[in-house]
Amino acid sequence: MFDGPGGDIPGWVRGTFPSCMVWAERGGPVALFGKKPRKGTVNFDNHEDNLTHQIDDWVSAARPPLGEVLLELGLIEQQSVENALLVQAAEAEAARLSREAAADGGETVSSDVLPARPRIGEVLMRDGILDEVGLAAALGRQFGVPLADLRLESPDPAVVQLVPEQLARKHEVLPLRLDEDRLELVTSDPYDVEAIRAITNHVGKEVALRIGSLSDIERQLDQTYNVLQSAGQHIQAFELSYDEILTDDEAGEAFKVDDNAPVVQVVTRIITQAVRQRASDIHIEPTDDAVWVRYRIDGAMTSAIDLPRRMGPAVTSRIKVMSELNIVERRRPQDGQFGVTVDDRPIDVRISVVPTVHGEKTVLRLLDKTKSLISLPDLGMADDVAERYRDIVSAPLGMLLCTGPTGSGKTTTLYATLNEVRDRTKNIVTIEDPVEYQFDGITQMQVTGDVMNFADGLRGILRQDPDTILVGEIRDEETSRIAMQAALTGHFVLSSLHAVDATAAIHRFTDMGLEPFLVASALSAVVGQRLLRRNCTSCAEPYQPQAGEVRMLERYSNLTPVWTKGKGCELCSDTGYRGRVGVYELLVFTDAIRDLVVARATHHEIKATAVKEGMRTMQEEAFDLVAKGITTVEDVVRSVYASGMDTQLVPIGELLPLKLEIEEGANGQASPNRSTPVNPAHAEEEQ
Ligand SMILES: [Zn+2]
Repeated sequence: MFDGPGGDIPGWVRGTFPSCMVWAERGGPVALFGKKPRKGTVNFDNHEDNLTHQIDDWVSAARPPLGEVLLELGLIEQQSVENALLVQAAEAEAARLSREAAADGGETVSSDVLPARPRIGEVLMRDGILDEVGLAAALGRQFGVPLADLRLESPDPAVVQLVPEQLARKHEVLPLRLDEDRLELVTSDPYDVEAIRAITNHVGKEVALRIGSLSDIERQLDQTYNVLQSAGQHIQAFELSYDEILTDDEAGEAFKVDDNAPVVQVVTRIITQAVRQRASDIHIEPTDDAVWVRYRIDGAMTSAIDLPRRMGPAVTSRIKVMSELNIVERRRPQDGQFGVTVDDRPIDVRISVVPTVHGEKTVLRLLDKTKSLISLPDLGMADDVAERYRDIVSAPLGMLLCTGPTGSGKTTTLYATLNEVRDRTKNIVTIEDPVEYQFDGITQMQVTGDVMNFADGLRGILRQDPDTILVGEIRDEETSRIAMQAALTGHFVLSSLHAVDATAAIHRFTDMGLEPFLVASALSAVVGQRLLRRNCTSCAEPYQPQAGEVRMLERYSNLTPVWTKGKGCELCSDTGYRGRVGVYELLVFTDAIRDLVVARATHHEIKATAVKEGMRTMQEEAFDLVAKGITTVEDVVRSVYASGMDTQLVPIGELLPLKLEIEEGANGQASPNRSTPVNPAHAEEEQ
């Protein structure tokens, strides 16, 4: 059915590979093997003359069209192939016309800029008809090249040494292992002859191709070329030179002048790897016998590397130099910032240094400025909640607050909201600490330590005739008062506040000293929110829930539960979770709620009325997600439940069969023996 290269060339044998013909070769340059004699690999050797021939043969070899292979594998319908072919032809025609137009104008257009025609696989992927895994399977079949399942296989470290990171990243290929001195190389594009040529020449060995999906290759590249792995040699070099350094001040001086100093190399690697692993924070923490470096990823801390204890002061000094802090000051907390570029992405780094009993602890918060903005529909609010929310934020005046502990996604919600209300007919101004994302058409100001705080900035904004104002965070009475007055006098104010839930925000304000009638009339709505960890889709599997879990779920969710959780795999670094999802509760200030606020009603009374009026609580939303198999009871307990809420509904003692983890943001308020309800307004200390 399909013709191999030169059907009757001596030395070629015809073989079968699943259902289509492929061509195998004995001793010649290019080979398409079936299962014998060499495990179905394609080999290129590094002898230059051979290589050029091999590549020519490889490109010109006859193969079944991809569309046919896709149909054969049952991955798509006949109609999709026909449609894609039409799209492909139309785009080829458009490309031809513009090429002609360019030629008339005396220009030539390179095929990189204007490909002659898109590949059919690309057209199908673009339309969402085919996914990466399907494409990889079809390419493997089409080219007679075996697949590499990068979820199960990872590169042999010895082989990784053969291909420098830069080369692998440039060509988006992954060196996998050596098989009888032949390098197995994973690519998502078997037609990428430049990659084949470059790698073959570089390693000086035969190269055998395997196919993988591009995103698997990229993920493996990030893990394989973990730059912390090469930190070891610099740590050693530091140890060797340590005896020459007499004091920490000298250490500071030593690397100020030398970019190649070991400590500079180590710090650069720590930051680079954190960015690649999508960490939000880096914690560098001296302990008794070592300096721990940990990353916060998806809200959970994970260990990155341990440094020798005596390296701690030098690392801290290096970071202080980068952020222009005082190196000599080691007894007071200091804050600073600097910018770095990692893999072409500009990253803003916020530094905080505090003295501890073992020396200074440094926390670096990483802000990736290229991170794309999440839109309102993508936040994950339930449809009816999103609709009400949108009505509230499009009002000309009033105030909307996002509440939750640190790391609950408040800034993301505020930015999505700003993006929604953004409009050239409006004067929109923000005051933030820090500006994490820059919008076109919005005036953004950044709080600057002693020079301008939130209240100063807000007063300044109000003199400039704003329509919508975003105050990054409300922390004190003065800022609250100005913001509320603005909300009452024809401005729409968006802000955030640390409070355990939407209702608790009201009491935070009255505790600050604001009059209940002011709070009641200024606020339009309060959103309470949390981020939950998502079950890893690669390793989630059904499990038998404990009685406590079933009881809790039944209390909060009416859905029929699908009990699944991640068992841990390579994709999720064995945590069982990958990515996060938001849960929200929207407390709308209706007349009934306003009356209760003015009457200084308790948290419970306000919440009960809100629920009667249709508010779904974060717990209900969260347990619905558990029922749908998106997250687990454990994670809900960790991030929503343990915050001291709703103790009157379920005694926290019932949770004891579960492992109750309390981490930052939960504020240690969940005492297992507490039986009386507490006022959550007081349950959270100011952070
Ligand atoms: Zn997993």
